[in-house]
Amino acid sequence: MKNAKLCPKCDSHDILRLPGQYSGNSAAQSQNLAATQYICCKCGYSEEWFDDLKELAKTKEQQRP
Ligand SMILES: [Zn+2]
Repeated sequence: MKNAKLCPKCDSHDILRLPGQYSGNSAAQSQNLAATQYICCKCGYSEEWFDDLKELAKTKEQQRP
């Protein structure tokens, strides 16, 4: 959905992108990770992607024992 800009449920190309939304995941929120939401305007299906892979890698590093 992120790369193809195509809804996997109804094959619509009418995809709305909402950048910088914080996830409902409180752990991700505390790490300042913002997930981009992709919403299909035809059927309402939505996906969340963390676009900031650099920040994601940094967080992963911090989670190591
Ligand atoms: Zn759809």
